[in-house]
Amino acid sequence: MKKVGLVYDPIYLEHDTGSHPENFRRLEYILEALDDYGIREKMVPIAPQKASVEQVAMFHGPSYIEKVARFAHEGGGSLDPDTVVSRKSYEAALMAAGGVITAVDSVIGGAVDSAFALVRPPGHHAKADRSMGFCLFNNIVIGAMHAMKAHAIERILIVDWDVHHGNGTAEAFYDNPSVLYFSTHQQGIFPNTGWASETGSGAGEGYNINVPLNRWTGDSGLYIAFTQILEPVARQFKPQLVLVSAGFDAHYADPLAGLEMTIRGYARIAEIVKRIADLESGGRIVAALEGGYNLGVIGHAVSAVVNVFGEYDVEVTEPGGTEPRFEKPVMRIPIDEAVKIQKRYWKL
Ligand SMILES: [Zn+2]
Repeated sequence: MKKVGLVYDPIYLEHDTGSHPENFRRLEYILEALDDYGIREKMVPIAPQKASVEQVAMFHGPSYIEKVARFAHEGGGSLDPDTVVSRKSYEAALMAAGGVITAVDSVIGGAVDSAFALVRPPGHHAKADRSMGFCLFNNIVIGAMHAMKAHAIERILIVDWDVHHGNGTAEAFYDNPSVLYFSTHQQGIFPNTGWASETGSGAGEGYNINVPLNRWTGDSGLYIAFTQILEPVARQFKPQLVLVSAGFDAHYADPLAGLEMTIRGYARIAEIVKRIADLESGGRIVAALEGGYNLGVIGHAVSAVVNVFGEYDVEVTEPGGTEPRFEKPVMRIPIDEAVKIQKRYWKL
């Protein structure tokens, strides 16, 4: 068994978004599932520290940080068409970024082998100077920058398996060869970025990998992308730390997208990430929650991933519902296209 940290703080529930799909009940359902499977008791609880304004400012502009703080303290509302803010959202967002920072410290310090940061608001769409897609501060970007600054980590792999492209994260490191960003996402949905031809710029050329997938691709497509692109690239890149933007909205029962993964599919891609970390980064993985909006599903999905990271051998089940449609031959086309592009930079 491995030690997996669970980063959580009740303030994450106080980012009050009302009836928005990204609401506090998501975390309650996840914690309940972790309890039901007996997984939470095997994990190591980690109390997060709030990120300081200076830490958030490693990525975000000071005037944007101030804008979020002021908007929340004045009572909140809609900061952009998708992103709702309440009075406690600024504190929750500082604690979400701080949650990833604390997880990075715990993993690098050796207190745990890996960690899952059960945070909200999510982060991967947040840009340096604006909120986007339910995200205020980019938790994963801030965690990565902290790892480089405070721990002198030189090579970080970010795996983003949320169904949406993590445009904020991609942008943050687009010209930076120290951070390899790998994203699988459904093509043609929000935020409409993440084309396979977006490969990074300047010194970062080749360090931004997008595998946009067709609707209904299913588990097998993700598995092919992870084994035929991510794994060989990661073995060449040799990350010292692996970060995961762990969204679960690619599940077939998710209301916001249609990639049609199953719980078993999440376990399989988590196994590949774990294998990469075991071989290259001393097993060090920090995952942070991003999307995932079916309350009956996300707890099982997080449990499946933590079960893999911890080598717990718990049987995590599919919550049921309509069976997904499995891979059709056409689903390989975008993956083959991404392979062709990545062959310019990596041995595949
Ligand atoms: Zn998403």
